[in-house]
Amino acid sequence: MFVDIQNITKEYESGNVLFKALNNVSLTLEQGRIAVILGPSGSGKSTLLNILGGMDLVNQGTVEIDGRDITKCNDSQLTEYRRECVGFVFQFYNLIPNLTVYENVEVSANISKQPLSIDEMLKAVGMNEMKHRFPRELSGGQQQRVSIARALVKNPKLLLCDEPTGALDYKTSKDILKIIEEINEQFNTTILLITHNQAIAHMAHRIIRIRSGEIIEDVINENRLPAERIEW
Ligand code: ADP
Repeated sequence: MFVDIQNITKEYESGNVLFKALNNVSLTLEQGRIAVILGPSGSGKSTLLNILGGMDLVNQGTVEIDGRDITKCNDSQLTEYRRECVGFVFQFYNLIPNLTVYENVEVSANISKQPLSIDEMLKAVGMNEMKHRFPRELSGGQQQRVSIARALVKNPKLLLCDEPTGALDYKTSKDILKIIEEINEQFNTTILLITHNQAIAHMAHRIIRIRSGEIIEDVINENRLPAERIEW
């Protein structure tokens, strides 16, 4: 399995009380699949994604990505994992405001050993014409396109998307979902996308529901719909 999570538990302490944000979660995913993780706010979705991205540590359990257990990595190995293997797309884009579109993607390319072409990535997300603009000169949807190009230029094995359409209108959301779908088809990138929009689950190969830090449903989607046809 490309992603193989076994029995992970993540606890946070607040005021001497231990709170389990993830409670004995196991999950596997084949390479080249799109998994959509659904759950209400506070259910542990971001915690799970951050652990997969090597940005947070577990208290118990193992997290294997492409055969490598990242829970056994030291700090520098984890940094390398984040640089080389993972692309992250956030709800609020997180572009660097004083860098142009091109430069935002370039920063990501520069930290990667074998980056893809910056121009090709900007073309893939339809932002090549605007490459000299600054983030403040772009709409939310355009900024999200750039953030996807920034994630992809590293040629990551794993693309993690945290509410990628959470701040976008319906039409722009569909455009972004179509891009995510194309990336999956073109590069065979394994994608985990978290959302509280149930409709988005239609485009997934796998639908995982999480509640109060536990997986309550994990099914293969037999009736996938292209992003184009999803409605909400
Ligand atoms: P979701 O992404 O589904 O909204 P999160 O993974 O962000 O949920 O949070 C799950 C739970 O863990 C929430 O109750 C949240 O308050 C708690 N939590 C998340 N991060 C921290 C932290 N750094 N310290 C304490 N509690 C946290």
